[in-house]
Formats: sequence, C-alpha cells, structure tokens
Amino acid sequence: MTNKLNIKDLSWEDLNTLTQQLELPKFRAEQIWRGLYQHLAISSEEMKLIPKVQRDLLDKNYRFNSFQSYKKFVSIDGSVKFLFELWDGEKVEAVYMPWHDEEGKLERATICVSSQIGCGLDCKFCATGTMGLTRNLKASEIIDQIITCEKDLGITLTNIVFMGMGEPLLNFNNVMKSIENLSGGPFKKFRRKRITVSTSGVIPGIRKLAELQPPVKLALSLHATTNGARDKIIPLNQKSGGLNPLLLEIEKYYRKTKMPLTYEYIPFKGLNDTEQDAKRLAKIAKRVPSRVNLIPFNDISFTEPTGISASLRPVDDKKMNEFVNQIKSFGGVAIVRDTFGSDIDAACGQLALSEKESTENE
Ligand code: SAH
Ligand code: SF4
Repeated sequence: MTNKLNIKDLSWEDLNTLTQQLELPKFRAEQIWRGLYQHLAISSEEMKLIPKVQRDLLDKNYRFNSFQSYKKFVSIDGSVKFLFELWDGEKVEAVYMPWHDEEGKLERATICVSSQIGCGLDCKFCATGTMGLTRNLKASEIIDQIITCEKDLGITLTNIVFMGMGEPLLNFNNVMKSIENLSGGPFKKFRRKRITVSTSGVIPGIRKLAELQPPVKLALSLHATTNGARDKIIPLNQKSGGLNPLLLEIEKYYRKTKMPLTYEYIPFKGLNDTEQDAKRLAKIAKRVPSRVNLIPFNDISFTEPTGISASLRPVDDKKMNEFVNQIKSFGGVAIVRDTFGSDIDAACGQLALSEKESTENE
C-alpha cells in the first residue's frame, strides 16, 4: 500500500497549481487532464505526450489508479458488475447498464457507482445497510469506477447514477469533487443533467446540493408515504423529522434547479402496496414535476436478516402492474424500473457483501 495521493483528487485548478509548482509548461495541465479523463490513463506511462522526466515528477507524489485489482461479472442482459479492490483491501462495486430503445439501438450507457464502503443508515431492505459504514470513498475512487468501466469495456458512458453502495449525501465533499471533475475542466466528460444523485433523505445534503450550478438530477428513495411505514424501514426518517420537512426540501430543490425529480419506491407485500398508498404517492409525485420509479425488491436473504428485514416480501408481477396503474389513475407519472443483472447479484450492495462473506468463510 502506498500513501501517495491519487492525481484524480486534484481539481482543474489544483492541477494548474501543481504544473506551475513543478515548473512544467502551462499547456501540460490540459494534456494531463485529457490524458486522465478523455484517454482514460491509469498510469503515467500511458500519457505519451508528456516527456518521461516530467512523468517521473508526477509519479513521485501521485498515483494514477485507485484499484489494486478488480473482477467483473457479465450478465446475460448485457449489464456488467465490477467488484474493485482498493489499495487498503476494501471492496466496492459498480454496475454498467446498457439501455436500448425499441429498435435495439443503445440509447443510454449508464453506470451505477458507489460513494461509500458500506452505509451507516441501516435501511431494512438493503444489503449494503447490513454492512455498516466502513469509510467514505475519495473522489478519485468514485471517478476510477467510471474510468475503469469505460476502459475495460471499450465504451463511452453517457449517464452516472449514484445508486451503488453508500449514501452520497453523507460523503458530500468527495461526491461533489467527483462530479466537478467529471463535468468540468477542459474536457467535460458528462453533462450535469446526465448525473443523478440518489438519497434516502439527508435534508442538509439536499439543501447543499441545490447550490450546485449547473445542477444534477435528484432521486429520493421514498419507499413509503406515511411516517408509520417509512419509520419501520428507513431509520433516518424518524431521526430527521419525518416526511414533511423532507418533501418540503425536495420541492425547494425543484424550484431552485428546475430539474424533474425521481421518487424510488419498492412496493412490499402488505406494507406499502394498497390503493391508499398509490393515492398518496400520486399526490406527493404531483407536487412538482417528477416520476415514480417502482423497483422490484431484490431478495436479501443471504444477509440472514432478522426483525422486520426478515418479513419483507416483494409484491408479485400482477400486484406491481395494478399498483403502477393505480398511481397513474390518480394522476402520477410512474413506471416499473427494468431490473438488470439478477443473474449476477447486481443489486445495491449485494456483490461486495456476498464476496466478503465467502472469503471470510474460506
Ligand atoms: N443511499 C442512496 C443510494 C444508494 S441505494 C439511497 O438510499 O437512495 C440505491 C437504491 O437502491 C435506493 O433507491 C435504494 O432504496 C435501493 N435499494 C436498496 N436495497 C434494495 C433492494 N434490496 N431491492 C431493491 N432496491 C434496493
Ligand atoms: Fe444506505 Fe441507501 Fe442502502 Fe439505505 S438504501 S442503507 S441509505 S445504501
């Protein structure tokens, strides 16, 4: 393990300061930036435009890659799950999801990235939640999930969603830095409206995120329309004052950014799947332009759940369709989200955890 900084933790301004300090010509900063973000360099040798003596200067203090190794798992549906091993031996995952239009043409190439190792919020339906929080990821460790995916698969990603392991708004500064580097500098890799941050409802984080200009898209993991039900499955709900202040903050986010919102909702059998739930959900969704994404529950029985986690069951397909139609009949916009990679455990937090358990049991 090395204690060098990762060069992708530098902002465009930082990189300019560094090249000045190293007395490199001014244009080198742009060459390095393009080398990293456009040409996907994960070592200094790959940046052939930079003379060897200058590359050696960079190598002395910086490393170019966050991972000592990674594994990938390819699904029959075209999605690919990456399991990365960081320099401290921790593991983190990302999933590539190709979205095709009706004629089969690739419409979007999305990556779902992780922002933390584990998560401290303990949502009762989430495998990552059972791990607790180990640490925040650095901006470079988020960026390298994207660079490695593009490099490995030989593709250009179009969209980023922060829906992997962790709560992005509780790792605010690193997540912001990764967004700024990926959408700024001399090579703007992603447009902000193609980046979605998903939160389980961290109110101060939503407030700060609204300041980002240009803004990113926001998704709220709502999952329940009453405090009674939400408190049971998302402990943060009670701690942060319940649904009212959260929904007010979400509305403010829309007013400030004019970005349509997404509400994520897993219908659980007998918990949040009645016609009354659909009615309340449509009412919430109509407060500002938004869409409800209904997500089929991914089984987490491999975590050996106890308490309420052990009692959560998915609704069947018939009920899912009925529920989506009910939301629509009450005037909400709703879809059932495509699931990717069920054959490779490509759900939130699952792979890292199952791998960890299998190595611990060896
Ligand atoms: N912490 C953030 C982002 C990571 S979770 C958040 O909670 O929004 C990404 C999404 O996966 C969230 O909508 C979360 O509710 C959902 N999710 C977690 N566990 C799931 C499971 N077992 N089945 C289906 N969706 C799940
Ligand atoms: Fe954390 Fe999101 Fe999982 Fe909740 S759903 S435990 S906030 S990763």
